[in-house]
Amino acid sequence: GRWGFGLAGELRQAAARSPERVAVIDDDREVTYARLLARAERLATALPVNAGDRVGLLCRNSARMIEALIGVTSKGADPVLINTGLSAHQLETVAEEQDLTALIHDDEFTGRLARVPGTLDERRVEELIASARRARSEPPVRPGRTVVLTSGTTGMPKGARRPTPGGFRPLCSMIDRIPLRAGERILIAAPLFHTWGFAGLQIALALRATIVLRRRFDPAAVHETLVEKRIGALIAVPVMVQQLMELRPRAKPPALRIAAVSGSALPGGLATRFMDRYGDVLYNLYGSTEASWVSIATPADLREAPTTAGRPPHGTHLTVLGDDDQPVPPGTTGRIVVGNEMLFEGYTGQEQASHRTVELGDLGHLDDRGRLYVDGRADDMIVSGGENVFPAEVEDLLAALPQVREVAVIGVPDDDWGQRLAAYLVLRPGERLDPEAVREHVRRHRARFSVPRDVVFLEELPRNATGKILARELPRPAAG
Ligand code: ATP
Repeated sequence: GRWGFGLAGELRQAAARSPERVAVIDDDREVTYARLLARAERLATALPVNAGDRVGLLCRNSARMIEALIGVTSKGADPVLINTGLSAHQLETVAEEQDLTALIHDDEFTGRLARVPGTLDERRVEELIASARRARSEPPVRPGRTVVLTSGTTGMPKGARRPTPGGFRPLCSMIDRIPLRAGERILIAAPLFHTWGFAGLQIALALRATIVLRRRFDPAAVHETLVEKRIGALIAVPVMVQQLMELRPRAKPPALRIAAVSGSALPGGLATRFMDRYGDVLYNLYGSTEASWVSIATPADLREAPTTAGRPPHGTHLTVLGDDDQPVPPGTTGRIVVGNEMLFEGYTGQEQASHRTVELGDLGHLDDRGRLYVDGRADDMIVSGGENVFPAEVEDLLAALPQVREVAVIGVPDDDWGQRLAAYLVLRPGERLDPEAVREHVRRHRARFSVPRDVVFLEELPRNATGKILARELPRPAAG
């Protein structure tokens, strides 16, 4: 169109229509739409890369990250969004696998990038912006791709190639269920490098919103921002909401209408507690890097069914298939399969796929009103003595114990049963709990094969940047 393609086109349009509106408020500064565009386009002019190149971005949430992202796409190059939790070795692998021409990064990551070529630190990026006397003025010529890395929960992160069409299509799919408003203040607490934070950014630009960012998630500071900056919508991952619930805040955020979470399962019980305190503002979105979001639960859904992932929005087709690849009836668990217009195009290094549907690798079921419940990842299902157990069933049960702050359940190899359950608990300060009491609690509510044989107490659970529990980093209990 007139404004050019993709995120850069979106920003050009926003800057033309609302030049003086504040586009981003971050830890350091406030930037108007006009200035954000000017800086992004100056960066595009000076950036030593060509159209079609891939440029890595390793940044915490900040205006600088958005400028870099849009600068790269304006140039016709494809940004690769990199998880800030990756190790030096993983970063080296990603740079090589994604064939990066350059990598723009926050200074705090310099130490991990010693072996990565083409890095551009904060000062270098400022120099480039200052050196370009005139901003690149043509609209971006190709829609381009954004490569979003998967979380790497199950191995090395994979680069999922996604078209970067600007926020219009995602916006339509989201406002089908979530009443976002043009021009409102949106706090994106989820990392922008992750599929969910990135979606939030696309949508916020399409709404010409004022985007509020914090480099790090600190629950008290975020609560204060919700109150003081009169945030209308919060975009977060479930563990952030869980941490907000541990505060004893005095003031309630005055303008908060929407708290949308995605990226991992919403712990049972959290939805109701959160809405009792913050009002009926919670939305649970289910999705993945490959499929973007595929179902949305509204506050009304969550009041009726606190663990549901809701229904597919307009334009998304969601089915649950059994072993015979046919849809299963309500109440029966099967593989979750989805089709929509936002599916990824393939992993880096693989050929262009023309997916019509994607399997998310999760098992779930529908209820008779068409609401989805994600039972868990197929790979995480525990088979103990021939019986299937999903970690979440037992996790939710244990999370209801008043002494328990956080919990993770996994399957560990067992000579007799194939697998047995191990529960990892973080207790609230000053609390104690006897392993036998933990087992007894499960025994009262569930069949015997669901009772964790191993009960391990930890100070905290190992989580990635989006709050997913890293099962492979949990200490293995001794063989038994
Ligand atoms: P990798 O593929 O590298 O192991 P990953 O699959 O963890 O990484 P993501 O694409 O970020 O990377 O995660 C998507 C998965 O997260 C989904 O398939 C699902 O298992 C889980 N998930 C996301 N949102 C929800 C939700 N609202 N409820 C339940 N599970 C969710």
